[in-house]
Amino acid sequence: MSDPSHREAVVVGAGFAGLYMLYKLLQQGLSAEVLEAADGVGGTWYWNRYPGARCDVESLQYSYSFLPELQEEWEWSERYATQPEILRYLNHVADRLELRPRIRFNTRVKSATFDEARELWIIETQRGEQLTARFFILATGCLSIPKLPELPGRDRYKGRILQTSNWPHEQVDFTGQRVGVVGTGSSGIQSVPLLAQQARELVVFQRTPCFSVPAHNGPIDPAYRQYWSANGPALREQARTSFAGFPANGEPPVPALSVSAEERQRRYEEAWQRGGLEFMGTFADLFFDRAANATAIEFLHGKVRSLVQKPEVAEKLLPRGYPAFAKRLCVDSSYHATFNRPNVTLVDITQHPIREMTETGLRTDEQHYDLDTVVFATGFDAVTGAALAIDIRGRSGVSLRSKWVAGPRTFLGLAVAGFPNMFLITGPGSPSVLSNMVLSIEQHVDWIADCLEFLRRNELDTIEADEAAENEWVDHVIAVGNLSLFPQAPSWYTGANIPGKPRVFMVYFGGVGTYLQKCNEVAAARYTGFTCA
Ligand code: FAD
Ligand code: NAP
Repeated sequence: MSDPSHREAVVVGAGFAGLYMLYKLLQQGLSAEVLEAADGVGGTWYWNRYPGARCDVESLQYSYSFLPELQEEWEWSERYATQPEILRYLNHVADRLELRPRIRFNTRVKSATFDEARELWIIETQRGEQLTARFFILATGCLSIPKLPELPGRDRYKGRILQTSNWPHEQVDFTGQRVGVVGTGSSGIQSVPLLAQQARELVVFQRTPCFSVPAHNGPIDPAYRQYWSANGPALREQARTSFAGFPANGEPPVPALSVSAEERQRRYEEAWQRGGLEFMGTFADLFFDRAANATAIEFLHGKVRSLVQKPEVAEKLLPRGYPAFAKRLCVDSSYHATFNRPNVTLVDITQHPIREMTETGLRTDEQHYDLDTVVFATGFDAVTGAALAIDIRGRSGVSLRSKWVAGPRTFLGLAVAGFPNMFLITGPGSPSVLSNMVLSIEQHVDWIADCLEFLRRNELDTIEADEAAENEWVDHVIAVGNLSLFPQAPSWYTGANIPGKPRVFMVYFGGVGTYLQKCNEVAAARYTGFTCA
């Protein structure tokens, strides 16, 4: 087709997912373009530039595996790379693979409509541009639509408002300032220690305390780097077939209550000393059994009490009332110890909610806080937010918003019945945010690329998930989720952080390896569960 506004594939988003998808499409010889709202690549790592931002999956694993050269030529400096380093890496990838000319920046997609007669997607941007594409691929991210609290008086406030999820590009100096941070999830927990070092006073407004384990971050041990460079492909393969997307490490987990209290303590302590998200795998049943989970809570509470000098502050920092890990576990660098600093105050806003912003700060039920800057670390409309922000219409003009009104419905988190030739990368109903995301992104991109190749080889024009396969998958995702403790916490995994959002556990918790096998079986059986025409 010679229409200059037609592409075989349009991809939305230029983060880890969009960049790799674009590379694969171009390798396949397809005309493809990425549309990206930002003025640069990086996605998450473009937007979240707050002090302390870094990955919580080890850099050696939180990076692409698809090209050995990329791994060989990039040397990560720290166990958990900082945001600037990850952003530099993604820019390097974009340049190295010559992707930039195929990315249209500063371009937010507003709508996408499937034209049944022409079997094409018509894509409109906020600037009014229109493109057509045979394949429409959402690489829009699970955590890319920031959520700010509705606080009365925001317009009145004369100080500076910052958002961790949309941080300014220029250096922000907090020296001599009174700074407030609202939100104590991963973003709050990472930024608080650094803000405390700079600000004259730091006030942390906490609604729900989070469970957190130490990162023990630092330069990568040369022996460990050598181990990864010698065994990288095998370790990556192990990760792909594992439960959470990480290679096996340490003793095989047993049920928490199958060992003595001393042995349990030993294993928890060892995991704590190693640091990082692996703590959740210390015992086999921490995600499934409330009594087992309670042993982790007891251990983690003990750590907070030992790290925080003032007992009354430590008590406020103890997460209670929900299972550990049912909200995303945080990985921190000196978060709890930061509350020992004389310039840091913790305000429990469950007891004294924030009522309003005033000209000079924030007012809770109890008192007024004068603040020069307020930092909102209040999270995202996660998993479905970015797809639903686009007005997507499939067959018969049915909108994705209406289809997902009671919660997301997908087959494998990759496709939606009624929306032919549309793919989601790490969509709802896939392991996505419960795994190493880069690994899950690569798996989805590879699957989609193989699928497009299958269509080409067989001279097929469209592929569309069957309603029956979708229904079965949605039921399965929910049933597996219900075996776990996840539904017992009001988290963003279940949509609970967004008023009015349906409360559904949106992620597949059957394991990365099991999921990969299912996806491969579907492909091997000539895309069973899909109709190709
Ligand atoms: P994103 O990186 O979110 O990219 C999506 C892109 O799509 C964005 O650039 C956005 O601007 C663009 N976009 C969205 N909608 C539109 C539209 N309508 N039009 C045009 N463009 C659009 N995961 C891990 O596994 N390990 C970690 O350590 C980790 N750390 C994280 C730290 C932070 C601060 C956050 C917020 C998330 C973290 N995550 C982590 C999750 C992280 O989002 C993924 O690891 C990964 O970066 C997602 O890549 P992506 O390309 O799928 O999406
Ligand atoms: P989040 O986990 O959703 O945390 C948001 C915080 O803001 C919570 O403490 C929440 O309290 C609070 N909050 C929300 N609305 C509020 C309101 N109206 N008033 C007061 N408090 C409010 O968001 P996040 O910290 O940005 O993290 C999101 C996800 O991104 C993480 O779970 C993780 O997957 C990823 N991430 C990873 C890293 C990393 O370590 N690599 C860093 C940042 C983010 P409630 O809990 O009470 O709602």
